[in-house]
Amino acid sequence: MRHNARRLQERAEPAALMAVVKADAYGHGALPVVRALRKEGVRHFAVARPAEGQALRDAGIDDSILVLGAPLRSQLPTYAAYDLDVTIPSADVAEAVVEVGSASAPLRAHVKIDTGMGRLGLPPDAAAPVVRQLADRDEVVLEGIWTHFATADDPESTFAGVQLDRFEDALAALDSIPACIHAANTGALLTLNGRLGELSAGLVRSGIALYGLAATEELADEIDLRPALTLSARVTQVKTVAEGTSISYGATWTAPAPARIATLGVGYGDGYPRLGSGRATVSIGGQCRPVVGTICMDMCMVHLGAPDDPLARRIEVGDEAVLFGPNGPSAYDVARWAETIPYEICCGISPRVPRRYVDSRGETPPEAPSSPTL
Ligand SMILES: *Cc1c(COP(=O)(O)O)cnc(C)c1O
Repeated sequence: MRHNARRLQERAEPAALMAVVKADAYGHGALPVVRALRKEGVRHFAVARPAEGQALRDAGIDDSILVLGAPLRSQLPTYAAYDLDVTIPSADVAEAVVEVGSASAPLRAHVKIDTGMGRLGLPPDAAAPVVRQLADRDEVVLEGIWTHFATADDPESTFAGVQLDRFEDALAALDSIPACIHAANTGALLTLNGRLGELSAGLVRSGIALYGLAATEELADEIDLRPALTLSARVTQVKTVAEGTSISYGATWTAPAPARIATLGVGYGDGYPRLGSGRATVSIGGQCRPVVGTICMDMCMVHLGAPDDPLARRIEVGDEAVLFGPNGPSAYDVARWAETIPYEICCGISPRVPRRYVDSRGETPPEAPSSPTL
């Protein structure tokens, strides 16, 4: 992850890297990730909800934290109490922020313009009056103005360019421009590089690339990234079954010949997607083997080979299988089997899966203790 942060910082220059650590850092664990990235000089973080920012503050993180989601009015005191930067996506929120902020403790705000994502933000032509209204108030510090792309992951799409034009027009209509302008996510950094210029000069908000992935494998080729995460599971039983033996719920797979079958202690309750049934492979004993039958909540079964297969004879209870990671199938593979994107695969790893953090020497850094349940 630290390697990825360095590559992203080089690429984002002169903009600063804002590390997006929402959803528990895409399943990687927000606090250990933030601590590792701080060692690379990262000083800007983004989360989706105020509670995520609050948790980082409670753990002693004092860098800037922007909450990307729209605040409910009832949440604004949390922003004030925990010094979280607030996103202003509407005139109503602007008004509420002025009411909750005070001259002695102003709320820091970033106005969000919807240039085509259709999710959050002011229409481009409605931004100027809101920015003017906030610029005059001492209950608010207007830190930044930003937008978000819908199609920047796709190098073929021209829509991101349309969004950039709209953003540029909206900025041109402002009387005064806040210090921090930002637009780029990972996709935009990799596909729009040359075109971003002033329009993302303040920050580049990158999430997925920090974790060594991109929306697609092709996009990841644009930059030198290292996947940070390995999901593995142990063999909990091995057996030889006769031809015709069915495996798992629905009895959807039947051994076509005598077979060595390993049961792994991982399933969809851990975030290993059930859609991978009949599609997925794992790496076990250094080789690739298919998952057979339906993936259950807590277990799945792997066909190791014929009973006399050298690998099948070698695998024992307690051995590890890699479900995805640098030494197994990729997160892109799992995403393809599950008909989704790598983001969802990482985010979906459930809290019951123990986390173990290692540095490049394979040691656990003191700032990232492993889960006690491991
Ligand atoms: C999640 C998110 C990002 C990060 O996107 P990546 O594709 O992971 O780089 C950036 N900006 C906003 C508004 C987001 O919601």
